[in-house]
Amino acid sequence: MKAREKEKLKDTINALKKKKGAIILAHSYQQEDIYDIADFVGDSYELSVKAMHCQESTIVFCGVKFMAETAKILSPEKTVLLPVEKAGCPMADMITLDQLKNFKAKYPGVPVVSYVNTNADVKTETDICCTSANAAKVVDSVQGDSVLFVPDKNLAGFIAQRTEKEIIPWDGFCEIHHRITPEMILKAKSKHPDAVVIGHPECRVEVSELFDYALSTGGMVKYAQENSNKKIILVTVDNMANRLRRENSSNNYITLGMVCQDMQMTDLNSVLNALEKGQHEVKLDHETIGKAKTAMERMVEIK
Ligand code: SF4
Repeated sequence: MKAREKEKLKDTINALKKKKGAIILAHSYQQEDIYDIADFVGDSYELSVKAMHCQESTIVFCGVKFMAETAKILSPEKTVLLPVEKAGCPMADMITLDQLKNFKAKYPGVPVVSYVNTNADVKTETDICCTSANAAKVVDSVQGDSVLFVPDKNLAGFIAQRTEKEIIPWDGFCEIHHRITPEMILKAKSKHPDAVVIGHPECRVEVSELFDYALSTGGMVKYAQENSNKKIILVTVDNMANRLRRENSSNNYITLGMVCQDMQMTDLNSVLNALEKGQHEVKLDHETIGKAKTAMERMVEIK
């Protein structure tokens, strides 16, 4: 699409958004065009809180399915639209409700901590959810010496180094972060010896051990805001660098070529369709919302 057409489309979206009383929320891993029409860009936790407190009754959620569901769980009275219905999270899909029930049956009485990257039905069988930013605090907050942690085994390994509790992990992972190897980091470091390495704890433990700072997406934004003129090797999804450049363009961000295809699916046309046709509305039944909300609200309290 030509630049002028794009700008026109963005103007149309902005006008329609106002007319429909909608707000557009975008995850940091979205494309830059989506940032331009978003009212708020953030991580999945920040976006859910924003969805909860905003005045608008319609939320266009530019991200993936579990995030839009999370917004719906916390704001059931609002209409939540996911522009691309099939935009999902392969990691969230690595554990189903039945699999979680079987996992719990193997460890009776052991509380379940679910990473927020889980589908709504999995949250209904969860004691408390967590984000990558508050995962260790959440684990420490639950009763008992052990927790079942789903779905990310890498985040589980990261937390295990930061808590006294026994973490029993599910065998899931983010396909993008899991693909990053220690060799990739060492190569980037030898090419840029003066760079600082910041990365996401969804990476394998042997990778996150090579970070100078392990940070959630929100933590990365804060780091970029607080530091200037730095060379930064960014160990996460490449699109994050676009966001960080907006926060502080004096830093030089070096990326590793990591792309989340599901996050790439949302484009300007799909957002326009969402606004024009009200598609694709997230629908969850009352029981699911009620049970999942308890686990989410406990998480919000720990933040
Ligand atoms: S980057 Fe990983 S965790 Fe995030 S949406 Fe993509 S697959 Fe899921």
